[in-house]
Amino acid sequence: MRRIALSLAAACALTGCAVSNTPYPRPVTTTIAPPLQNLPNIYASAPRAPLHSELFACNAYGSNLGLIGQRGEATNYTPYIDTPAGPLLRNPTEIACLSSGFGYRDTASGGGRQHNGVDLANHDGGFIYAAADGWIVVADYRNGYGNFIEIDHGNGVRTRYGHMAEFDSNLRSGVRVTAGEPIGRMGMTGNATGVHLHYEVLVDGLLVDPLNYGAPRPYVTTPVTQTYQEPLPVAPLEPDAAPPEPTPTSQTYPEPVRLQRPD
Ligand SMILES: [Zn+2]
Repeated sequence: MRRIALSLAAACALTGCAVSNTPYPRPVTTTIAPPLQNLPNIYASAPRAPLHSELFACNAYGSNLGLIGQRGEATNYTPYIDTPAGPLLRNPTEIACLSSGFGYRDTASGGGRQHNGVDLANHDGGFIYAAADGWIVVADYRNGYGNFIEIDHGNGVRTRYGHMAEFDSNLRSGVRVTAGEPIGRMGMTGNATGVHLHYEVLVDGLLVDPLNYGAPRPYVTTPVTQTYQEPLPVAPLEPDAAPPEPTPTSQTYPEPVRLQRPD
């Protein structure tokens, strides 16, 4: 320390630096937000996947929607896809409607194009979840897919997620994810005209229809012999029947007791 002070004094002697009498400047407080890496990653505490009991079409004129019921519901929808790797979320979003289904669809310019997945849309975005346990294969930007994630669930089953606004920066090839874990947020990166998730499901290297493939087996329940009560005969109403007399209420509470001042 002393050596530094001496060398500084020597430098000033050589260069003739002016000695200032102004006090040392105080540290300046700032309102600028700290860098992002100092904040907790939102994916560490984000909610897990909801299991959507129904899926509704965004509008009746979407392409390849399949069977749509009177309330706008996709009638073949079930909450999960039964696969060799176990159940996958059929709608791995926080909230979304069905804007396009799987298969060949007409385009406005004519022609037509194969659509390799389903489009699950929401103007407001929202989280996208891992459809099941697995390992990240790709978490990167991929041309038309935009921000893209592919997960290997084992047994030849993979899922792909496209057009994300962002994905969890901790996800890289080989990282393990668990079912329902948030992996990114819905967006419109790549070749997309609106905010949606492009969701693909692959089984043994083949793209399957995420909306209709792997309908779960029906529940097995214990057979019951009688599921309803025997019908009871209804007594006919008497037209002149007087309303029942109100029964006098008997006293059901104790007499009040005057509080006495202790002696
Ligand atoms: Zn799509």
